[in-house]
Amino acid sequence: MKTFHNPQHAGHAGQQEMFRGRMVPCHEVPARLGFVLDELRRRPLGTVEAAALPEAALDAAIHRVHDARYLAFLASAWDDWVAMDPANAQRDALPSVWPIGNRHAFRTDVLPANFAARLGLFSFDSGSPLTAGTWAAARGGAACALAAAQAVAAGERSAFALTRPPGHHAGADFLGGYCFLNSAAIAAQALRDAGHGQVAVLDVDYHHGNGTQAIFYERADVFTVSIHGDPSTEYPFFLGHADERGAGAGEGHNLNLPLPRGTGVLAWRAALDQGLQAVRDSGATALVVPLGLDTFEGDPISGFTLKSGDYAAIGAALASAGLPTVFTFEGGYAVDAVGVNAVNLLEGFQRAA
Ligand SMILES: [Zn+2]
Repeated sequence: MKTFHNPQHAGHAGQQEMFRGRMVPCHEVPARLGFVLDELRRRPLGTVEAAALPEAALDAAIHRVHDARYLAFLASAWDDWVAMDPANAQRDALPSVWPIGNRHAFRTDVLPANFAARLGLFSFDSGSPLTAGTWAAARGGAACALAAAQAVAAGERSAFALTRPPGHHAGADFLGGYCFLNSAAIAAQALRDAGHGQVAVLDVDYHHGNGTQAIFYERADVFTVSIHGDPSTEYPFFLGHADERGAGAGEGHNLNLPLPRGTGVLAWRAALDQGLQAVRDSGATALVVPLGLDTFEGDPISGFTLKSGDYAAIGAALASAGLPTVFTFEGGYAVDAVGVNAVNLLEGFQRAA
């Protein structure tokens, strides 16, 4: 399994996030990726390399998934933040005002001149600090996802996009949940563009993959599945219910498998089996797995009880789908366990593939 890692990830290092009304140190920290790299050195699965892609090809792949207005905002966001107040150079940008989604309540078609307003327009929470290095890190992550998809499209059985910030909460035109560009969606779209007629996304992060669902919700060519904490109590709260099945041409092409907080491995594995059967039934010829390890019992912001020893069998189950597979690194905030858990799963996949 080839791993593409993002050398620019460490430039995205938020100081604090708003968590349940308090400012707390960021959960999504550069050390997470370092622990995975360390574990891959101890238990190699294949080559580990940086993604080397032409800028124009990368830009095109990002634009296939994200809106131009949002990408232009991200590209200049840090400079605009500092231009508001030179003292901002010392603090992360966090939104503080949002146009809520009620019809006729607020306009979202007019781009505000005020940067704080634009930051609110393109975000859905105050837990995702934007820093001086965020745009470069997010672009580097998109490059990993694209390189992994290209490797798989060229015949590799699997590839791993090892990057941060994560991606699966980012929609076509919004950031949130520590995510800015949706790596999994970029990989899925790249696989479609490389000739796979039908692609599936099976999201195993603790949190619902709301961004990925939203991006493909009205499409029949990308089947999205997510196994996650019940949004009635768990982040991202406003999407991820079982009755969301897709819309328009995408009707029947989204499957949500929400599970209650406290769910253990047996019930989680039953949901995985259901998700894998749905992937087989979808006719997909390639698979993208947004790989979150925050299902782990020690995760500080999540509520399932999977153990480190459970992940190898989960990897083997994912391999049983028999599909060329791209993994994108997502959540997992028990930082000193995230490397072992990620490599346990990937090694389990590779042994069974
Ligand atoms: Zn998560």
